[in-house]
Amino acid sequence: MTFRATVLTLYPEMFPGPLGVSLAGRAREDGKWALDAVQIRDFAADKHRTVDDTPAGGGAGMVLRADVLASAIDHARRLNPEAPVIAMTPRGKPLTQARVRELAAGPGVIVLCGRFEGFDERIFEGRQVEEVSVGDIVLSGGEPAALMLLDACIRLLPGVMGAASSGTEESFENGLLEYPHYTRPAEWEGRTIPEVLRSGDHAKIAAWRKSQSEIDTRLRRPDLWERQEGARVQSASGARREKKD
Ligand code: SAH
Repeated sequence: MTFRATVLTLYPEMFPGPLGVSLAGRAREDGKWALDAVQIRDFAADKHRTVDDTPAGGGAGMVLRADVLASAIDHARRLNPEAPVIAMTPRGKPLTQARVRELAAGPGVIVLCGRFEGFDERIFEGRQVEEVSVGDIVLSGGEPAALMLLDACIRLLPGVMGAASSGTEESFENGLLEYPHYTRPAEWEGRTIPEVLRSGDHAKIAAWRKSQSEIDTRLRRPDLWERQEGARVQSASGARREKKD
């Protein structure tokens, strides 16, 4: 099955962009994923090919029209009928590795890229569009966010990454940040590699990596750590309840 990415954008020339090289570029040449970059402007109904209008209630900027977006989405659904439609927006649900895994396991994705002030709100309900954010930042357009989302999916497609294990040991896959890495030279500018990594003792190395991963998550991402702890406490009390029954 080929993972199909249909991107709705005012700048189709931005695609495949960085997804045309390296891992993703090779995977596309091998037919592991396919791309349609669709120009939203082609679905404007007037002779000026207008896609936006001023915000209802006043204020700065322009808003993408729901009717134009709907025609573009309907076209994308004909190209890619099974795929979910995802709009990139800072108002959306933060993207997670868990959602990326689900998407990568599916038939593909239709990605809607905003510009200006964003989308007419009615499109989301009107066309069952999932709203996704790539972080608490504001980009000038949805295209770099779409490239992020697609990159994250493509590397997980079967046969795209070299070593099979390198997909599952990464940050977030187990709710934690990954442990730190080192490579030769053993000493660089007076800094050495942690001794345990040169010990050849695989059990000790695994224990060290697990503990580093926990320490770094606790310090750098207390939000992730708390979620992880919450899940652990919940599953432990669930297991206790099961025993009692
Ligand atoms: N007025 C909007 C921002 C619009 S930015 C607001 O304040 O919420 C223009 C476009 O860039 C958006 O429509 C969206 O497609 C994209 N974009 C900006 N930041 C993003 C983010 N954090 N995640 C995903 N898409 C983003």
